[in-house]
Amino acid sequence: MRWTEEQDEIMRELASRGAKAVAKAIKERTGVSRSESAVRMHASRIGVSLLSYERCPGCGGDVKRLNRDSGLCPTCHRKLRSGQLRSDTRETLKRIEAAKKSPEYKRAQAEFNAARRQHQRARKRLERIEERM
Ligand SMILES: [Zn+2]
Repeated sequence: MRWTEEQDEIMRELASRGAKAVAKAIKERTGVSRSESAVRMHASRIGVSLLSYERCPGCGGDVKRLNRDSGLCPTCHRKLRSGQLRSDTRETLKRIEAAKKSPEYKRAQAEFNAARRQHQRARKRLERIEERM
């Protein structure tokens, strides 16, 4: 069966989704069954590439595969993620500052400083005594 202009149009429109999608759309829109290999052969004859790619909604660029989580290309995905990481980090830093202001933390810090000073003084006294021996 001859390929019609309508089928060629469907081919050009959906080429980036691959032979299977083209065959499916031709069947749905025209009622004509085309096998995947027939689609591939005809694509080659009329110079249409069936290499599949996906279009990034972020930048409009074509990539082989969009990120499954964000639905974005690798570049846009990284931009989005770095923004999220920066925001998470800001939140974490705020929580650290808040935790450091808690009375319990301040008491523990003061006790730690006092213990460390006492420890250092004791070590120095021991060193001085040992130097004289
Ligand atoms: Zn993108």
